[in-house]
Amino acid sequence: MSRVYNFSAGPAVLPEEVLREAAAEMLDYKGTGMSVMEMSHRSGAFEDILNTAEQDLRDLMEIPENYKVLFLQGGAHLQFSMIPMNLMKNRVADYIVTGQWAKRAYEEAAIFGKANKIADSSDKTFSYIPDCSDLTISPEADYVYICENNTIYGTKFHTLPNTKGKLLVSDVSSCFLSEPVDVRKYGLIYGGVQKNIGPAGMVIVIIREDLITKDTLPGTPTYMKYKIHADHGSLYNTPNSYCIYMCGKVFQWLKAMGGLSVMKQRNEEKAAILYDYLDQSRLFRGTVRKEDRSLMNVPFVTGDKEKDEKFVQAAKAAGLVNLKGHRSVGGMRASIYNAMPKAGVEALVEFMRKYEEENR
Ligand SMILES: *Cc1c(COP(=O)(O)O)cnc(C)c1O
Repeated sequence: MSRVYNFSAGPAVLPEEVLREAAAEMLDYKGTGMSVMEMSHRSGAFEDILNTAEQDLRDLMEIPENYKVLFLQGGAHLQFSMIPMNLMKNRVADYIVTGQWAKRAYEEAAIFGKANKIADSSDKTFSYIPDCSDLTISPEADYVYICENNTIYGTKFHTLPNTKGKLLVSDVSSCFLSEPVDVRKYGLIYGGVQKNIGPAGMVIVIIREDLITKDTLPGTPTYMKYKIHADHGSLYNTPNSYCIYMCGKVFQWLKAMGGLSVMKQRNEEKAAILYDYLDQSRLFRGTVRKEDRSLMNVPFVTGDKEKDEKFVQAAKAAGLVNLKGHRSVGGMRASIYNAMPKAGVEALVEFMRKYEEENR
């Protein structure tokens, strides 16, 4: 067996310890004689898995009592419509468009009401986060929406926008659990788990209790009401049970690592190794304004498409895979999520250094 260093943006690298544990429990989960995949979601064993996962997530993020945690399906994309259907009471919402995912959410919200684009960084290929300290917030807005870490472009909100008292809704798919957060600053936080937590096929929604009401937009399907999922403890219908089990294992791994402040420190150290190298390289350069750089997704280019492609191929041959950048930015992107060990980033930088010497 040989494992590569996988820099994929998602589905992405998982902690090897977690994969080994899951493998060991594959045929017989804790004496039940079956895999978690084969188990009723109403069984005691599965209820334990679900409750433990929720409690561990609450512990890690210090989620206050008045917030609900929902394990839902449909990925991050279904939230692009569930959010307006449930929260757009006045049919007005303000969107800060810092990349493709925020843009998709904004376009989806426009189906349901007046979605205002109050800030936008498309003028420079989304390579920065606009100043959001004093935006014009619509008086009627039900919420202000951001994508906190822009997976494709490698930018991150290091300061949350000033919403002037409006609810903040945030897509944290690609920075989920990468550092401590103050949940109280948000009305709703959500993220697809396939970036920084678990396998594909699930989204976690953390929502303030008072926002969960029967009062949804007319025509909202039952399945798309937060209330139905909250009332049933994420078991209204069959959940993505195996994914919940895997996420739960990752939560335990994060706790054993020391929690989110330790992860933040590790992530800062890892990112610095790569950014420091990029900042002095004469072959490669980062594409993002320095103060807006993400700790999770690091895009970089040579400035020459052919050279980029050659590098991606050479890296792959050396066991450093999925470094091709998103088609809208080109070049390369290294996603260095929680589960990417420091040794993986060091191996990448070592390879880049040598490659630069040989190909300048
Ligand atoms: C990947 C990603 C999405 C889309 O996720 P799906 O689960 O495929 O719908 C949305 N937002 C962000 C920030 C992402 O990184």
